[in-house]
Amino acid sequence: MDTENAEKTSQGVVVLVGAGPGEAKLITVAGADWLSRADVVVYDNLVSLDLLKACRPGAEKIYAGKRPGQHSMSQRKINALLVEKGQEGKLVVRLKGGDPFLFGRGSEEIEALKEHDLAFRVVPGVTAALAAGAYAGIPLTDRRTASMVVFVTGHEDPDQGESSINWESLAWADTVVFYMGVGNLSQICEQMMMVGRYGETPAAVVERAATPRQRTVISTLESIADEAEAARIRPPAIVIIGDVAEMTNRLDWYEALPLYGVTVAVTRSEDQALTLAAKLGELGAEAVIAPAIRIEPPEDLNEYPTQNHPEGKVLS
Ligand code: SAH
Repeated sequence: MDTENAEKTSQGVVVLVGAGPGEAKLITVAGADWLSRADVVVYDNLVSLDLLKACRPGAEKIYAGKRPGQHSMSQRKINALLVEKGQEGKLVVRLKGGDPFLFGRGSEEIEALKEHDLAFRVVPGVTAALAAGAYAGIPLTDRRTASMVVFVTGHEDPDQGESSINWESLAWADTVVFYMGVGNLSQICEQMMMVGRYGETPAAVVERAATPRQRTVISTLESIADEAEAARIRPPAIVIIGDVAEMTNRLDWYEALPLYGVTVAVTRSEDQALTLAAKLGELGAEAVIAPAIRIEPPEDLNEYPTQNHPEGKVLS
């Protein structure tokens, strides 16, 4: 092994980076910085693929997602992969949707790294509940109606048998946010009503928050499950229950953008496409970059003398 590699081996580090939810821009500056320097990136299903464009050339990108119904990497395999790449002395970024420690199994990955004495870091991320609130116009707390908010998983460990959720405690929480709640939405709402929440309590489901395909369904605790089903809401989605949910009627902005719901193919050359795509994104459109032209210097510049160019410049 040469000296450079020997030195690298002692510096192997695995960084758990929260990618944020939805659009790539929601990653933190610290997360983007680690990502731009990574030798290896192990990324999840819910991570925006646009983020991978920021990796340095030659970085190894490994998909470790868990897509329903598709071949997926088990948690044990992911842990072993992180250990293996870390032991090779690499700078490994483990890129996880939202925040790595919120329903993200980040602690299990760190325990595996610690068992092998590997250095690790954790960079927090914007969690899906915050993006759903911000992009759907639902403040999760509000001085007038909600002074507390609880994050709950709607999908429990199937091996666990009994529910580990303290449903009674949710009777008192002003705002209750469920992650992974779409599949069990009707049971969740029934449980909430059984512990005393009124059927008329406002409720919202925000699907694909912070992406141009975001959809929000607003209803009440007793009807939201049926309405979400009628709208064919699919994961990933966040469920928000509490008085704040109806504030979206006044604070909604994202789905009201002028180009929201529109998909635009940007056929400009790749260099020029990004600026236009960003502008379209700001107006709510989904921009698909599909370059139909490529601009290159002519093979023989002398054939195009400077004085003949309309702007008197030689293109480089
Ligand atoms: N660690 C992640 C959560 C992972 S659990 C975080 O902090 O956000 C996966 C669940 O997160 C999904 O089932 C869904 O409830 C929620 N989620 C992730 N991305 C989302 C998005 N863009 N819109 C709505 N919900 C999202």
